[in-house]
Amino acid sequence: MYPIAAHWLNFIDGQWADSERCITVNNPGTGQPVASIAQASVDDAERALQAARRCADSGVLTRARPAQRVAWLLEIAAQIRAVVEEGAWVLCQENGKRLQDARDEFIEAARYFEYYAGMADKIEGTSIPLGNGYMDFTLYDPMGVSLQIVPWNFPVSICARSLAPALAAGNAVLVKSPELSPLGLCVLFQAIERAGLPQGAVNLICGRGREVGAHLAGHPDVDQIVFTGSVGTGQSILRAAAEYAIPSVMELGGKSAALVFADADREQLIASVRNGIFFNAGQVCSAMSRLLVQREVYEEVVAQVVAMAEGLRVGQGQDDSDLTPVISAGQLEGIQALCQRAQAQGAVVASGGDAIGGLGGHFMAPTVLRDVTPDMEIAQAEVFGPVLAIIPFDTEEQAIAIANGTDFGLVAGVFTQDLNRALRCARRLCAGQVFINEWYAGGIETPFGGVGLSGFGREKGQEALYSYVRTKNLAVRIQGE
Ligand code: NAD
Repeated sequence: MYPIAAHWLNFIDGQWADSERCITVNNPGTGQPVASIAQASVDDAERALQAARRCADSGVLTRARPAQRVAWLLEIAAQIRAVVEEGAWVLCQENGKRLQDARDEFIEAARYFEYYAGMADKIEGTSIPLGNGYMDFTLYDPMGVSLQIVPWNFPVSICARSLAPALAAGNAVLVKSPELSPLGLCVLFQAIERAGLPQGAVNLICGRGREVGAHLAGHPDVDQIVFTGSVGTGQSILRAAAEYAIPSVMELGGKSAALVFADADREQLIASVRNGIFFNAGQVCSAMSRLLVQREVYEEVVAQVVAMAEGLRVGQGQDDSDLTPVISAGQLEGIQALCQRAQAQGAVVASGGDAIGGLGGHFMAPTVLRDVTPDMEIAQAEVFGPVLAIIPFDTEEQAIAIANGTDFGLVAGVFTQDLNRALRCARRLCAGQVFINEWYAGGIETPFGGVGLSGFGREKGQEALYSYVRTKNLAVRIQGE
């Protein structure tokens, strides 16, 4: 347990800054306030943006030898590792997540800086042969000012996932933190501050999305937007960004399906379902929210999933419970309403189905819905909670059609012992990432992103670095040859 400051600030132009208004941050497990944070106004957002602009335009991030950026990123990683315990406690209290998962978020954040430190001095262009009389090569320039809008479900690791490659490539950054869970990011930035980057290189503001987020998304001084959040918000940001044709990376929602064939290893499958839909109370963009099960093993698999769900310990994140609260009362109401409408459309509750009272906060029972059909709302809409929809199928062809039959395409999974079948399905699944025999099998090294309404652009891995640069071609006419 760590004492948590009563009031937190924004980080603008190298200084911690207060604001006239503030936002109260509540613990989802108790409903009680944890602390308040300065609520950035449009003026504050403008100051933070101009600080990043000055820093980018000064060339301080790109003039130095690349080894300097490597050193900055490694120092940031070391500073983050020094605050893992303190940061995890703050994140667990404001977000409701398991304490161990909050620790893992800070450790993962440090890993992102270490990983992209390894690339900061290897952003190499190519030379292009054009024959005698010409020399041609490409340069990778940083975008300039990267605006990064972060959601509440994994604020610390999602922030690091974009911030690390952006800095590795020489950009200045303005992070807009989520109103519901902004405090862990303050701990992250306290650590980053100690790494001694140039003034204005990194800025952090917490403000209302519709006010400061919307102001920044359509701003001519922003050179790039990296947005992680819901589809509706992503669409309104894209509309605002269109005004100045600001390039964007969009990491949006999902309705990801796991295909379970009769020969699947059952132990591996049930462990994956547990992690896939109940980790972080199902508030994961790439959650396994649909389980497609071959009819001959449907009853057996449903029974095993129900037994697993009913064995979960529901409780506070600080007690490392198996299933933790959802982020807010509003989120809980939305999840309950979706479950009610699913039942009205014919889905059957095999386990859970409603909120759990008496625990103090916003707790949803681990929920398993069976006899779901692909056309039901619960099979099409993102729930963002601990709710699994189980759908039967007969053939491989049918399974692929159901899996691909939503507007989303973030991740998908195949569970089978038959490698040929797994690879056949993987090729045909419309998703940015396909897991075979283990949900979340990837890591920070593997490219991640969606197709369709799940968004575009890729984060993580080497590929993501190239979202943070623009290519410039230099075509030279040589005289005398
Ligand atoms: P959200 O869209 O409500 O908010 C995300 C961020 O956008 C917040 O910081 C918010 O303040 C800001 N915002 C809100 N309105 C804005 C506007 N008009 N202009 C600019 N910014 C605005 O999302 P959320 O509820 O915080 O997160 C949940 C959603 O995020 C889910 O749909 C989930 O699938 C998605 N998500 C996607 C990924 C991914 O990598 N694909 C990861 C995590 C979460």
